[in-house]
Amino acid sequence: MAVSSHTPGGLLKLIRDGAAATRADLAGLTGLARSTVSQRVDALLTDRLLIEAGEAPSSGGRPPTLLKFNQDAGVVLAADLGASHSRLAVSNLRAEPLATCRGQLPISAGPEAVLSWAVDEFAKLLADAGKAASDVKAIGVGLPGPVEHSTGRAISPPIMPGWDGYDVKARLAESFDVPVLVDNDVNIMALGEWWASSNSADDFLYIKVGTGIGSGLILGGHLHRGADGAAGDIGHIQAGDPSVVCRCGNPGCLEASSGGGALAQALASQGYDTAVTSDVVQLVRAGNPDAIRAVQEAGREIGSVLATIVNVLNPLDIVIGGDLADTGAEFLARIREVVYRRSTALSTRQLSIRASELGDNAGITGAAAMAIEHAFSPSAVNERAGVG
Ligand SMILES: [Zn+2]
Repeated sequence: MAVSSHTPGGLLKLIRDGAAATRADLAGLTGLARSTVSQRVDALLTDRLLIEAGEAPSSGGRPPTLLKFNQDAGVVLAADLGASHSRLAVSNLRAEPLATCRGQLPISAGPEAVLSWAVDEFAKLLADAGKAASDVKAIGVGLPGPVEHSTGRAISPPIMPGWDGYDVKARLAESFDVPVLVDNDVNIMALGEWWASSNSADDFLYIKVGTGIGSGLILGGHLHRGADGAAGDIGHIQAGDPSVVCRCGNPGCLEASSGGGALAQALASQGYDTAVTSDVVQLVRAGNPDAIRAVQEAGREIGSVLATIVNVLNPLDIVIGGDLADTGAEFLARIREVVYRRSTALSTRQLSIRASELGDNAGITGAAAMAIEHAFSPSAVNERAGVG
């Protein structure tokens, strides 16, 4: 349900989104009387959700006071739980980390072990950042598998023994009495990259090429999860060598021939010491021609799948992340070459395809952003303010 922009939460959103910066802007955008706007802004100032930040240039008369969302009106906790290691952060309300840590506990250690570790580390990080548990407004968590976002439960995740159906929200809420949001790792990376690019494109794709291949879709300014939270799983589109059977059981999946895991395996069968994606990246950087050829071929194949997606969704911005993006310009160049050749002229007229800005920080940035969007949504702000 849309919340009226006339409510305190709605006014705060106009400021957060950059649509308004002064009381006069708010009155102009909403049609509310100046006195009503002032009253609601005063309440938001009292709650420290807004702060006054100097004066705007005057167009004659007294210069108007600039209003800003108070990025220090609390913190959020962010967890990017990965297959082999995890990152945690305490972040301000611009999703910027104030304190971070990294742990080597694999997700396969199970939910009790991993989440207990996260709770203990969050307490230490809060102390490092000089914050208290009462400053925490929400928690965002990314998991390396399919997640039902509404319940925060992983659903039949292939590499997460013990997590199927586990109630992540309830476990974390035992320690922190705040909302807990859970999503898959690629969706939170997409959100993170989108925030870092100032949410400039309403239609935005993030592609992660690591051991596997996945994507997160921002459509019309919102993360598109699909009916069951399964949207964006491009690694299992049939596009690769049909004689190769994927771990999902189907032949010819994109990630079964072009994911980092597949490239490491293919190079290992040629006698190279490549066990994981980062070994492939090292070979490419060392100038090995077999590794370079393999990565270029993967780039072309990923490009042909992306060309189809570009034709269907017409994004403005595509960001490529994951370990294989670290192989550099060649990989990105092959992807671009195929996308621009195979997509329609209109759909590529403004399209940019670029490498990730955030790298390893995309996950915690996005987990924090997801938590902030929830905790400071108009309805959440109104509810805390006692507005119906
Ligand atoms: Zn597959």
